[in-house]
Amino acid sequence: MSADADCLFCKIVAGDVPADVVHSSERTVAFRDINPQAPLHVLVVPRHHEPNAAATASADPLDLAEIAITARAVAAAEGYDDYRLVFNTGAGAQQTVFHTHCHVIAGRESTWPPG
Ligand code: 5GP
Ligand code: ZN
Repeated sequence: MSADADCLFCKIVAGDVPADVVHSSERTVAFRDINPQAPLHVLVVPRHHEPNAAATASADPLDLAEIAITARAVAAAEGYDDYRLVFNTGAGAQQTVFHTHCHVIAGRESTWPPG
């Protein structure tokens, strides 16, 4: 589906809900997380609504590629060569918004394994 009327991130993509947008392209929109977990915490979302990264990859692999390229650009624009990308997938993995989104996290020490 292209957009879901009840989806928060579709509303941000459409400009109907305000967000601090830091990057925009034909396929993606990137905006700051409302509850940042690091000095840089941006969400990169495809304009096209799908519920998770695998669904996006199946529907249009170029959307997923654009997400990764956008994430690098967003990090680089704020001076970060090193960053973490996270796609929480499923409620059991802490996904709370069911529109594909990549967390771009940088600016603090990353631990492994992740929490
Ligand atoms: P998830 O838990 O699904 O992986 O990530 C959803 C993210 O969306 C969370 O980190 C949460 O802070 C963020 N978020 C939820 N509502 C809003 C909002 O209205 N605006 C922005 N910018 N971020 C949001
Ligand atoms: Zn959506």
